[in-house]
Amino acid sequence: MTTNLDMLIKGEKVTGQAAAFDVLNPATEEVVASCHAASEAQLNDAVSAAQEAFKSWQYSTDDDRKAMLHQIADKIEANAAELAEIVVKEQGKPMFLAQAEVGGAVAWTRYAAELDIPVEVIEDTDTKRIEVQHKPLGVVGSITPWNWPLMIAIWHIAPALRAGNTVVCKPSELTPLNTLKLIELMNEVLPAGVVNVVLGGGEIGGAMSEHQGINKIIFTGSTPTGQKIMRSAASNLKRLTLELGGNDAGIILPDSNIAAIAEGIFQTAFLNMGQTCAALKRLYVHDSQYDEVCQALTTICEAQSVGNGLHEGTTFGPVQNVMQLNKVVELVEDAKQNGAKVLCGGAKTEGVGYFFPPTIIADVTNGMRIVDEEQFGPVLPVIRYSDVDQAVEMANSSSVGLGGSVWSTDVAKAQQIAQKLECGTAWVNGHAEVLPHAPFGGCKMSGFGVEFGQAGLLEYTQPQTININK
Ligand code: NDP
Repeated sequence: MTTNLDMLIKGEKVTGQAAAFDVLNPATEEVVASCHAASEAQLNDAVSAAQEAFKSWQYSTDDDRKAMLHQIADKIEANAAELAEIVVKEQGKPMFLAQAEVGGAVAWTRYAAELDIPVEVIEDTDTKRIEVQHKPLGVVGSITPWNWPLMIAIWHIAPALRAGNTVVCKPSELTPLNTLKLIELMNEVLPAGVVNVVLGGGEIGGAMSEHQGINKIIFTGSTPTGQKIMRSAASNLKRLTLELGGNDAGIILPDSNIAAIAEGIFQTAFLNMGQTCAALKRLYVHDSQYDEVCQALTTICEAQSVGNGLHEGTTFGPVQNVMQLNKVVELVEDAKQNGAKVLCGGAKTEGVGYFFPPTIIADVTNGMRIVDEEQFGPVLPVIRYSDVDQAVEMANSSSVGLGGSVWSTDVAKAQQIAQKLECGTAWVNGHAEVLPHAPFGGCKMSGFGVEFGQAGLLEYTQPQTININK
């Protein structure tokens, strides 16, 4: 595998002219690649290329755009093995999960390809016709994080293109290599300048947010960075979709069959080692089932095979970066000092790699940092409740609201409670299930705007009302 380290601007490979930075494998702490960040002049080049390409791309036909997106999906499929290997090496997740990420990228690309952009007829009489068209915005800036780097890049780019926009994207400097490969593949299909990639950290992300040539930023990442982007975006009133962190609560109702749901709870809480925006991050359990739930989850955690994602049999990989690992360690230590009980895991694995085994923490309450703050890692606090209203109140006492869930054998009752949760998506008997056709976004400090489905597509457009006097 020869790794591409170059950015792509106007269809040309270019090496960054700013500082060099290393991409590490979190399982081995070895350098996978050394890249160069873009200079400000190179970011300007990328934006100019996207502006130039927009002049004709905005008028490309629906059929052409659909066909090109399907060709991109074909290319991702044809390069699936290489992309998955890159994802494992720089992101750390086990191979089966990286393969699922590549599969997700294909599915979302094909879904975006098939979406139609509606024309809404408001009035159509003998004398007048009023319709609403949805026009592309221009240049979309995509800023992506390090947890699901390939799939999130597709979530941003595919609908932007489908709607007729051009793109400048910036992957996290922690996991840029899969996106470099992806954009290379896209450029084998698309006209030059339609999709460009620049490298760099916060300084380049910040410059994109301020850039007068960018009309919209789609951002997935932390709330503080989302706030910075929103401030900078004011300069030219950029459109924004902000998909920020969450601290999703799950409530298990007392009628639940714990043996039947334990695996689902584990999978959705520890998805991608817990580094998933809409993972289940706090679990509320009724007194009567508390010990049973803790025991069932501990058994599943202890059965995991923690290791290098490239090794056969690994089910659980490392935390992606040292900053995130330190955050997890800090929150777990704080919980221990405040009387919480660690049922399994609870400390970084000795030796090389950012490994932290799946951890269940009991005897925790709202007000402790591990419950109130987003851990974004392989730790699940389990909180006891005695009546359901109290559980809902605790679930809602958060500044963020991305997802939430209610688990029960009584689906109607669970739905009633799910609708009381203050979050963008509420699941019943599931969590973290994001789908190409279901709008997904947060409320409160988890951001605004949605991705996916037709509502997600329309976020890349500007309505234009056409008022015709016949
Ligand atoms: P950030 O929000 O800082 O990073 C996300 C992306 O934003 C990266 O590409 C990053 O670049 C870029 N960025 C950083 N600073 C700026 C800026 N000033 N303007 C524009 N873009 C910028 O997340 P962190 O990596 O610092 O993670 C911190 C926390 O964020 C995690 O603990 C977790 O709680 C949350 N998070 C949420 C995610 C989600 O899916 N919603 C994903 C990742 C993190 P670079 O990485 O190159 O510095």
